Amino acid sequence: MILSGTTAVAGIMGWPIGHSRSPRLHGYWLREYGVDGVYLPLVASPEGIEAAFRGLPGLGFRGVNVTIPHKLSALAACDHVDDVAARIGAVNTIIIGEDGALSGTNTDAFGFLANLRQESDWRGVEGPAVVLGAGGAARAVCVALLDAGVPEVRIANRTDARAQALADEFGLTAFPWADRAAALDGAALVVNATSLGMTGQPTLDLPLDALPIDALVHDIVYAPLETELLAQARARGNPIVDGLGMLLHQARPGFEAWFGVSPDVTPALRNFVLES
Ligand code: NAP
Repeated sequence: MILSGTTAVAGIMGWPIGHSRSPRLHGYWLREYGVDGVYLPLVASPEGIEAAFRGLPGLGFRGVNVTIPHKLSALAACDHVDDVAARIGAVNTIIIGEDGALSGTNTDAFGFLANLRQESDWRGVEGPAVVLGAGGAARAVCVALLDAGVPEVRIANRTDARAQALADEFGLTAFPWADRAAALDGAALVVNATSLGMTGQPTLDLPLDALPIDALVHDIVYAPLETELLAQARARGNPIVDGLGMLLHQARPGFEAWFGVSPDVTPALRNFVLES
């Protein structure tokens, strides 16, 4: 990589940041499209995050991605926040204007939908969707499903009160966690947006008997790539989509805004990111 005096600079701010696959992902695209740009891992502690955001325009950054634990701080720090980020309640992508203003968005909902549209025939209108979880990722998934025109979104979460709060806020149907298997009856899509099934976490206990055989099963957990939920769904014949594509697609809007190229998510990119 040869840098020039006009190299476009972006990066990802988090604490810690060493685990992030984003530098590898953006680095692949920069090389693939021959962009004079660089994407840096930026370690930013919670104490210094406000000052770090404020310093970005003066350092000539085009923008940044923001990851755990700074997505709420980013929401507060931005001069402008778009509708999607406001509804999700978190900013994961900042674009810095020529006037130095910080514009915040959240690309997780885009990434979620773009991945499902690329990897399956599901288009949203087929029938009810079931979301498991009520954390930050589940909020993005619910916003995406509502924007895709899903006729009914059912939600269940270990802490029932969080599912009920989300249902009240977005107009969803809340199911008690104990009844999550019953929520699958007649569904066209089920999404695991909990951290269950991740390497090092317990598996998600979800009997699929009530789920129609043509319903799409999607796990946004991507490590491992095939979770127990996906293995179980595949074995009974349901179509499945893993979570890696959401991670890759959510990076596209930021890359395009900072570097001026609309990048593609390809099998070669998937393999490259998985090698890390
Ligand atoms: P989060 O805000 O911490 O939420 C975690 C969720 O998991 C909550 O709903 C929590 O329920 C539930 N949960 C945790 N432990 C549980 C257990 N033992 N039993 C039942 N439920 C449990 O995390 P997040 O940011 O939403 O992320 C959730 C998952 O999505 C993570 O695995 C993350 O890696 C993945 N993710 C993937 C992508 C992608 O691009 N593919 C993007 C974002 C996130 P309570 O409310 O009861 O605590």
